[in-house]
Amino acid sequence: MPAPPLSPGDRVALLLPGSTTYVEHVLALLRAGIHPVPLDPRSTSRERERLLAVVDPHHVVERADDLAALAARCGADHGPPRCRPMHCTSGTTGTPKGVDSGLLSPADAASLVAEEADLWGFGPDDVNLVLSPLHHSAPLRFALGTLLAGGRVVVPGGGEQRAFDAAEVTETIRGLGTARPVTMFCVPTHLQRLFAHWDAVGVPDTSAFRLVAHAGAPCPPAVKRRLLELFPAGSTWEFYGSTEGQFTACRSEEWLERPGTVGRARPGRRLRVADDGTIWCTVPRHARFGYFGDPDRTAEAWQGDAFTVGDLGRLDDAGYLFLDGRREDLIITGGVNVYPVEVENALREHPGVHDVAVFGVPDDHWGQRVCAAVVGTASAEELDGFARSRLSPPKRPKEFRPVPDLPRTATGKVRRSELQ
Ligand code: ATP
Repeated sequence: MPAPPLSPGDRVALLLPGSTTYVEHVLALLRAGIHPVPLDPRSTSRERERLLAVVDPHHVVERADDLAALAARCGADHGPPRCRPMHCTSGTTGTPKGVDSGLLSPADAASLVAEEADLWGFGPDDVNLVLSPLHHSAPLRFALGTLLAGGRVVVPGGGEQRAFDAAEVTETIRGLGTARPVTMFCVPTHLQRLFAHWDAVGVPDTSAFRLVAHAGAPCPPAVKRRLLELFPAGSTWEFYGSTEGQFTACRSEEWLERPGTVGRARPGRRLRVADDGTIWCTVPRHARFGYFGDPDRTAEAWQGDAFTVGDLGRLDDAGYLFLDGRREDLIITGGVNVYPVEVENALREHPGVHDVAVFGVPDDHWGQRVCAAVVGTASAEELDGFARSRLSPPKRPKEFRPVPDLPRTATGKVRRSELQ
């Protein structure tokens, strides 16, 4: 059968596991002005249907051979990308949204790449170790930036991406040696699992790491401190961002001076917090986007050249941002606003709490009642006493539920709706 026609501007849904060649082929599509739409290959058939309905692709690719054939038809262009991939948000707060920068000019696409390379210092010697699934925006951006700078992309296990395996990642780190600078993007859960594994088998040589960046979910302070201990000084960073863009950047050393911060606005961005706590980020033209096929949501997200993804926070006098969670997660109990993150941070200080998630459940009297799902050894009575010493009455959970584990998305975010 003849291959279907392929034209610039087409959307190509990718439903296959990431790999080094996946990144190379995505780059070939971008250089030809074709929009790769990376989707989670482990989606169930219902999830696939839902995602495909959101992104309405011209082509769907499910096999590595088909992607290679498609990339080959794009020609051997070595220039900068002419467009951006279209990613879907994780859908933590509802249906995933397709983040579309279809109106981006090739010059703007090139500016975006140059800006990213500048921020992270991607260079021809870099080896980018990929830990997160490549259908997410941040890991793919790191991998593409590395390739474009002439560096190498390494996927643990050497072939297609599999579920995160701390032993396999550790072996890969050992195998990389120290001849070339190593970069890595991850989510806090990966770090937690790596460090637990290293406690058992020993810490590999990390002296070649020049950049370890984490984002996507709150990082427990204990993990942050170990990150500083285990990697070279100045190499570890956190950023706060979303599929729609990256807002801040923060060296771990800055975090130590202001524990809990996610840093200051990254270069070229400006942050503002509205009276209701909503974080707005002003971005340059080349970082604009819309939600594909959803002009209403796009209009809601933008005010002039600033957009919000619905996160709440505070800025200190020096411009450091502190996150208070998401608008959707805010608990209103007896008319008082309670930020789950604040309650979680307080409870995490109890030595018997390994992990915790706070959420609201409907309540006839209070409107919503504050509940905590706790992983660990502390009893409900102990936690209640602990909460009394640290939190004002409306913030204290009315219920503590022991759970063996918290339900999380692949990007490490707690699924609060499932707990509710
Ligand atoms: P949806 O918008 O469909 O609900 P999602 O927002 O979970 O999905 P992502 O774009 O993957 O999709 O996640 C971005 C969100 O992750 C941010 O809006 C923020 O709430 C959270 N986040 C990102 N970085 C950090 C960080 N460093 N610390 C705490 N939370 C973070």
